[in-house]
Amino acid sequence: MADHLFERPMTTPTPLPGHPHIAYQNNALCIEGQPLAALAQAHGTPLFVYSKASMLDALAAYQRGFAGRKAQICYAMKANSTLGVLQVFAQAGCGFDIVSSGELDRVLAAGAVPAKVIFSGVGKTRHEMRHALQVGIGCFNVESTAELEVLNVEALALGLRAPISIRVNPNVDPKTHPYISTGLKGNKFGIAHEDTLATYQRAASLPGLRVVGIDCHIGSQITEETPYLDAMDRVLDLVDAIEAAGIPLAHIDFGGGLGINYQDDTPPAADALWHKLLAKLDVRGYGQRQLMIEPGRSLVGNAGVCVTEVLYLKPGEQKNFAIIDAAMNDLPRPAMYQAFHHIAPLSPRVDAPVQYDVVGPVCESGDWIGRDRDLAVQPGDLLAVLSAGAYCMSMASNYNSRGRAAEVLVDGPLTHRIRQRETLADQLRLESLVG
Ligand SMILES: *Cc1c(COP(=O)(O)O)cnc(C)c1O
Repeated sequence: MADHLFERPMTTPTPLPGHPHIAYQNNALCIEGQPLAALAQAHGTPLFVYSKASMLDALAAYQRGFAGRKAQICYAMKANSTLGVLQVFAQAGCGFDIVSSGELDRVLAAGAVPAKVIFSGVGKTRHEMRHALQVGIGCFNVESTAELEVLNVEALALGLRAPISIRVNPNVDPKTHPYISTGLKGNKFGIAHEDTLATYQRAASLPGLRVVGIDCHIGSQITEETPYLDAMDRVLDLVDAIEAAGIPLAHIDFGGGLGINYQDDTPPAADALWHKLLAKLDVRGYGQRQLMIEPGRSLVGNAGVCVTEVLYLKPGEQKNFAIIDAAMNDLPRPAMYQAFHHIAPLSPRVDAPVQYDVVGPVCESGDWIGRDRDLAVQPGDLLAVLSAGAYCMSMASNYNSRGRAAEVLVDGPLTHRIRQRETLADQLRLESLVG
């Protein structure tokens, strides 16, 4: 796979396709004008670097789409839950979609408004429910009847009424990777379409609950608009039925899932997609309803890169390997989903490229970051793994006792280190010998 798009460094800034804030300038790859090599020098590698302007641009596409409407954008923080990233979205007025009480504490520490927090996930514990009730979050997105009953009990015990939406499963195929498709019948998520009305009637009868909306989320890395348009029709059919049964729904939450361009993906732009979805809402009389969405990847995915150093070149009979200092513990998407990330040299060489599998140091054959890449590299060279803003650092682990990477947020001329590199002392802090 040729990363040829990225082999034409120019003296004038040449943005990488689809990455307006990442550009070659004088043969040096820069983010918002700052050379990534200088950041790697200052902070070490592997290093995640994020562009604040890219995040705000991605958010602005949604905001344009919703101009003149009542809409709350709740950033699905599991995509990247680092405090400094959350703070950017909190300051921009976003709400947050959380999936654990750890995420709740994180986002409160980053300055989120509790009323703009919504809580998704199939396995909320009683403890997590109480925590979220006490904090006063905006909505629980309930995923099963069993959860509904438990939430009712917990809310009553606290003398509160829990605001709820029910996550419905519209049974549309989002045409994405099976591991990130969530709106099909065989998934663990949501309430089946045909059980929805009965579940709402049960919810409306429980004194510890207050029905405030309806929710759906059909999957992730969705690159076509048809699944969204189909899901919208099915959700609005349900809204019609639920309201006809005398249960008003103050808001409609349409989830997240919009894809980004990793390789040759051509997802619709957020504003263009919402133009079409809003037209549908208008036709059916719901255009002025309070709307919510839960985008994650599309707000941060292309705002981040992972800078890594080439440690060794290992030529072989069948394959050549370029061994880098980032691994599956830092960047799990290739190992988990066989995902593609472009890999671009920070200072491109003029030598003829050689085909490499780009792999990490972890003791697993699944520890690869890129396969069959044409690269002109030498040991000591720095590479940028692109599209590393979402589901990379937030999925990072300590496998092989590797400390998690440092993270830097670039804001024009400013650089903020938003996470220190994890030390072995950090890793050992919770462990003890047997005696
Ligand atoms: C993960 C998730 C999202 C965000 O998905 P993206 O593909 O990152 O936009 C939104 N809502 C729910 C319920 C999720 O689980």
